[in-house]
Amino acid sequence: MRRVLTGIRPTGHLHVGHYFGMLRQTAELQDHFETFVMIADVQALTDNFHQPQKVRAMVLEVAYDVIASGLDPRRSTLFIQSLIPEIAELTVFYGNLVTVARLQQNPTVKTEIAQKRALFGDSVTYGFLGYPVSQAADITAFDADLVPVGDDQLPQLEQTREIVRRFNRIYGPTLKEPQARVLDTARVRGLDGDAKMGKSLGNALFLCDPPEQTARKVAGALTDPQKQRLGDPGRPEVCTVFEYHGLFSREKLASIATECRSGARGCVACKRELAGGANAFLGPLRARRAELEARPGEVLEILMEGTRKARAVARGVLARVKERMHLDYL
Ligand code: ATP
Ligand code: MG
Repeated sequence: MRRVLTGIRPTGHLHVGHYFGMLRQTAELQDHFETFVMIADVQALTDNFHQPQKVRAMVLEVAYDVIASGLDPRRSTLFIQSLIPEIAELTVFYGNLVTVARLQQNPTVKTEIAQKRALFGDSVTYGFLGYPVSQAADITAFDADLVPVGDDQLPQLEQTREIVRRFNRIYGPTLKEPQARVLDTARVRGLDGDAKMGKSLGNALFLCDPPEQTARKVAGALTDPQKQRLGDPGRPEVCTVFEYHGLFSREKLASIATECRSGARGCVACKRELAGGANAFLGPLRARRAELEARPGEVLEILMEGTRKARAVARGVLARVKERMHLDYL
């Protein structure tokens, strides 16, 4: 059976961007693929090395969000990256197949370094610059065919494919070249209008926010700055609230656009409608999450069982890699 792998960093609670960018499609794919979802705690430490207790606490929180979003632990494998040391070994070997210049050109890493100036100052760590290399290890350790991601991850996928091709050219056909799978909701904007809703960026609608908080956040979301009051014509194409209507109530989108352009639709009412739609959509997910939160021991057991299964696969791939690299002493 073909395999899907995707990863999430335990750096904060999951948000609407994760749901529409990646979780929803992973839940759909699990019917047709052997599906692995990795909680990337090692990668989270590349920019949270100074707060390991936060990363640790977020592992379970992310597991609640992922399962509540539809990933079925009986059909799919949910596991913790740091418990698979084979990934770290592959990362070391792949480090020889990538140049520093190539890593420095990665547009997503560039944006992230700029956002993290307070942490990194003028000189980024080797670990953070190299996280796309460890991501190549994450993906290839499971012979993944398909990687569902938001579009910020496309450069990472391209980097993985390059490493795979290079490895196979030098050492002989060994690794599988994965494909990214990106949806039309591959980049949900932030509440502040920023290009990306991010859990570390302070601009997210979290899946687990209480309904009142969702309503408060939506009320503060950026709309068309040229539309000052009811009666002014609006431009849905620049409005974050309009984009979110497309996620939660796609069927109403055409009429919302018409009303907005004509000036008949006011932003306050429009936001109230959005908050209602978002809370109705997220209600069942939040109820499932509350059930999981009440049983942390069971969720931890799901993670341990998933990790055992995942590790067996990664061991096989690493053995193949070491044989090709003449490291098969044992
Ligand atoms: P961080 O700020 O810590 O990097 P993040 O919000 O970017 O957190 P990740 O764990 O890095 O979340 O990303 C997990 C997955 O979710 C990736 O596939 C990423 O592309 C996707 N994703 C994250 N944010 C969005 C978004 N705003 N829209 C669509 N997909 C997203
Ligand atoms: Mg990210």
